[in-house]
Amino acid sequence: MEHIVIIGNGISGITAARHIRKLSDKKITIISAESNYFFSRTALMYVYMGHMKFEHTQPYENWFWKKNRLDLVNGYVSKVDTANKKLILKSSEEIKYDKLIIATGSKSNKFGWPGQDLKGVQGLYSKQDLELLEANAPNSEVCKRAVIVGGGLIGIELAEMLRSREIPVTFLVRETSFWNGVLPKGESRMINEHILEHHIDLKLDTNLKEIISDEKGWAKAVVTDKGETIPCTVVGLTAGVTPNIDFLKGSGIETGKGVKVNNFLETNIADVYAIGDCAEQHDAIGSRRPVEAVWYTGRMMGEALAQTICGNKRAYNPGHWFNSAKFLDIEYQTYGWVFSEKSKKDQEQHFHWRHPKEKICVTIAFHKDTKQFLGINTFGIRMRHEILDRWLTEKRNMDYVMEYLKDANFDPEFYAQYEENIVSHYNSLYSANIASRKKSWKRIFSNI
Ligand SMILES: Cc1cc2nc3c(=O)[nH]c(=O)nc-3n(C[C@H](O)[C@H](O)[C@H](O)COP(=O)(O)OP(=O)(O)OC[C@H]3O[C@@H](n4cnc5c(N)ncnc54)[C@H](O)[C@@H]3O)c2cc1C
Repeated sequence: MEHIVIIGNGISGITAARHIRKLSDKKITIISAESNYFFSRTALMYVYMGHMKFEHTQPYENWFWKKNRLDLVNGYVSKVDTANKKLILKSSEEIKYDKLIIATGSKSNKFGWPGQDLKGVQGLYSKQDLELLEANAPNSEVCKRAVIVGGGLIGIELAEMLRSREIPVTFLVRETSFWNGVLPKGESRMINEHILEHHIDLKLDTNLKEIISDEKGWAKAVVTDKGETIPCTVVGLTAGVTPNIDFLKGSGIETGKGVKVNNFLETNIADVYAIGDCAEQHDAIGSRRPVEAVWYTGRMMGEALAQTICGNKRAYNPGHWFNSAKFLDIEYQTYGWVFSEKSKKDQEQHFHWRHPKEKICVTIAFHKDTKQFLGINTFGIRMRHEILDRWLTEKRNMDYVMEYLKDANFDPEFYAQYEENIVSHYNSLYSANIASRKKSWKRIFSNI
């Protein structure tokens, strides 16, 4: 029986395993150095915040794996011997494979800062990081102040986590406005305000220079490039992630930033594939980045590869970009492409609406000549994925999007609706006369 071995039990490895099992009777082994069972990494923060126990982050019961003949191995793969099709674990155990799936995710970036390996300095990626945070920052008595370095999605999550235990937080962000390499300026500005209102000491345009040690090797302060010294006991390094592929050195598997793969997620070595955060596309798909460290990408790659491995060769074809996250209590969704000022193309124009009082806003990108709808960002309003996906595929124009915007709303019943205000703002900005249509369930479900 063909033996499929998967290194990594995150969303990509587990999705591949589940789908291979659905499609075949192959022997499947999943190896992880992190946890016995698959858990949702995106839910780690809620464990620290007391909203759930760690077991609640595991989407499948513990019996699921044995019942579905998915063999789990807890161990670290230190070497891949592609010539002999075998893995060597840190424990010296060897595992033979017929087909190998590398799904080893990411690791937190460290940029060689002086003091980056001191005690009290950590990232937020793994279950072990969560346990370390619990030890380093159980409360504000033990952790008098934390400094977070790096203003992305994980940095703001870490700030929220620490604030939930009333730990004072200073947040060093290299950019002049939060996440403005990704978000257009109106949104980025709104998030700056929101961070400050949550009593997080946001320091924009500020870099970490060094972390200073006490006499026992613990972090006791950080020094910024502005010459400021900030006393602290915990330093969170959240300046992005990189593919976790160091163990592949000498294996002959081609790597760049990540494991190089083609559209079929195949590496340069026969029967070796890579998916999820650790995979790097030879040729980026559309405007997507060659490495996409996001949950949905791992899931889609896992599904596509399972088909290929089971004989229905299928390219990874992710369709329109979408993602969701949150900034403290503001939910964020994005569909299609809405670029920041830094990467916006000449033909891309933005329509921005913001609620006069609340932290709710929408930015819609469109082609300045044809008015074709290119993408939408929403903050504090939930949108319906299928509708936006359909409008992107159908290349609808802005007038259409405005007219039918209510169809796209996905907020629960009795939530305040803002489409009338959005459309009226659009009309006044562009001297248009669009009337907002009533939501129609018939239209919504017509093509889904
Ligand atoms: C705190 C946090 C919040 C996030 N929030 C969001 C979000 O809101 N939306 C979103 O889209 N994405 C989010 N992400 C990113 C998302 O979680 C990742 O993109 C996704 O989990 C990657 O899945 P993966 O299967 O590729 O890798 P991973 O989940 O990293 O799994 C890889 C596994 O392989 C193991 N492994 C690595 N090397 C070896 C080895 N040599 N031997 C054995 N095992 C090994 C690792 O220990 C790990 O368990 C978040 C990430 C973090 C850390």
